[in-house]
Amino acid sequence: MRSYWEREKPPIPVAYGPAFEGERIRKEDMFIEFGGQRTAAFEWVRTKELDEIEDNKVIIVGTNVEERFKAGGKMPLAIVIDVAGRKMQNDFEAIIERKLHHNINEAQGLWHMGQRDIVWMRISNQSYKDGITLEHIGIIHNTMTHHRFKSIVDKVQVTLYCDEKDVLELQEQARAVYRERDRRLGGMTDETVETFYSCLLCQSFAPSHVCVISPERLGLCGAYNWLDCKAAFEIDPTGGNQPIAKGPAVDEKRGRWEGVDKYLKSNSAGAVESLNLYTIMDNPMTSCGCFECIVAIIPEANGVMLVQRGHTGETPVGMKFSTLAGTVGGGTQNPGFSGIGVNFITSKKFLFADGGIKRIVWMTKNLKERLGEDFKKRCEEEGFPDLIDKIADETAAEDSEKLLEFLTNAGHPALGMEPMF
Ligand code: SF4
Ligand code: ZN
Repeated sequence: MRSYWEREKPPIPVAYGPAFEGERIRKEDMFIEFGGQRTAAFEWVRTKELDEIEDNKVIIVGTNVEERFKAGGKMPLAIVIDVAGRKMQNDFEAIIERKLHHNINEAQGLWHMGQRDIVWMRISNQSYKDGITLEHIGIIHNTMTHHRFKSIVDKVQVTLYCDEKDVLELQEQARAVYRERDRRLGGMTDETVETFYSCLLCQSFAPSHVCVISPERLGLCGAYNWLDCKAAFEIDPTGGNQPIAKGPAVDEKRGRWEGVDKYLKSNSAGAVESLNLYTIMDNPMTSCGCFECIVAIIPEANGVMLVQRGHTGETPVGMKFSTLAGTVGGGTQNPGFSGIGVNFITSKKFLFADGGIKRIVWMTKNLKERLGEDFKKRCEEEGFPDLIDKIADETAAEDSEKLLEFLTNAGHPALGMEPMF
């Protein structure tokens, strides 16, 4: 018999299952929320030694937590999941972390969005009435982490920190780990490996979508890079991340390989015959719905714009992010448009065949700030150290007319480049 903790459903007072994943919780129906830029919040999976943690324990740290867990409330929250196991490796942490989203969303009346330090969670009034407490968040993660990762996890312990001071302090440590994870790939290039990986996880709602993930191009949701996929395949060889033998290059500049095309033909429900990883103009990658960012061509400016999820303003292509997302998503190839992970922008393979980062004529302030030093470094490498100042943002232009004016005044290099199509 399976033990209590290995059950597929956590012992909680609300229903549980994938059917609840699409459920939304409106503000009127909300009991309390965490994160979403309303409070500090993050999620972090850490590896511990077996004797350092107590299996299935949930620890809540904070002052007057019970009084603060109240209707209409919001609370800072750090969710720290400590795992230990003889087969556990640091490379598996990100894989376990990515599942936290599903762990919570599968509970009726609990809602989850984002990951790492951009997480946002809500608990509904109804589920509170049904008896959901803060502790249940820990119970869900304990049960489901055991259940999903039987082969590598022997012990799980969850600590929830509810005081802002603790959350902010720990968040710095977590951020250092996130950065380190993103950097581990640092020196690797697409040329140095024989194998790329697929991610098929989004086929549950975009049946023809396949993310092809190489050392220099991460998945479009931003959560899976090449090392993550390699680790996921090690944990579960029949899971959603499969190796793709690159095979001989058909077009090195555009990033096309025989093995990749062959894989896509048989794994994209016939939707993709051929893929170029390094251009958006000709057989670009398909987009599901969870891209962090959209790159879109602005023909009159001979370049592209970049807008991230969550940006509510207008863009120079005349569409807001939400409208653009509807056009780009769904698993088809749309030349001129693509959903991408934010970290791809600073990759040397970003629009490699289209002229690289010099094609960027507009991007949001938020992205400029987020890419920060990495972007400056790339501009210097490309021989345009002041490129960032020549790229317009929403304060300079929100329509193509103003944009062109700005680019002309700034002397943006894209205006003098070969036509994009
Ligand atoms: Fe996987 Fe791509 Fe979906 Fe991310 S967007 S989960 S990498 S298929
Ligand atoms: Zn997706």
